[in-house]
Amino acid sequence: MKTESCYRKDIVEVGKRLYARGLLEGGGGNLSIRISENEVLITPSGMCKGFLEPDQLVKIDLEGKVITALKEYAKPARDYRMHLALYQRRADIKAIVHSHPPVATGFAIAEYPLDEIAAPEVMFTFNQIAVTEYALPTTEEVPVVINKALDKYPAANAIILAKHGAITVGSEIWDAYYKMETLEAYLKSLVVAKVMGGFKPLNAEQIKKIEELMGVKH
Ligand SMILES: [Zn+2]
Repeated sequence: MKTESCYRKDIVEVGKRLYARGLLEGGGGNLSIRISENEVLITPSGMCKGFLEPDQLVKIDLEGKVITALKEYAKPARDYRMHLALYQRRADIKAIVHSHPPVATGFAIAEYPLDEIAAPEVMFTFNQIAVTEYALPTTEEVPVVINKALDKYPAANAIILAKHGAITVGSEIWDAYYKMETLEAYLKSLVVAKVMGGFKPLNAEQIKKIEELMGVKH
């Protein structure tokens, strides 16, 4: 069982890696971990996640109320509502990465549909990639469009937010982080495939075999 101090260090480390890999920029993006039933550790608003210190993270409850802010100036990420909506909806989600990776955000800006599955990796890693409608960032509209997208793909572990960016979720923060890396890599490959003449999505039979291998119904 990890201590809160370990969770704080994990978020700082993941922030550094996302920044170093160009998966988030400036003050953009936010990371969180559900550290207990009613406690979420989240990155502070506006600060660059590439240079955080563990004591700059803010602990909030599932209603968004601040429990602990060790630094007076640290306010919870303004996007906190989307984190809480995901934790409230799915008990399997223990950590969330939200960022604006250039390729995934390009897909978000284009509102490109991702219903068709181009490679088994999508199912192995994400089950499915959900795409939301547009919502004004940081507002109550965001949980609404996320919940609507998840009504279509309830087990999706990656969500593209229209005209905004991407979310990946996981059983712990490193899991969510690796999913963000994989999402950006997959969408880059999809662009390459499009440039090379397009792709043929997996057919029903191929999807069925992957489901059998995974032991889950897609
Ligand atoms: Zn954002």
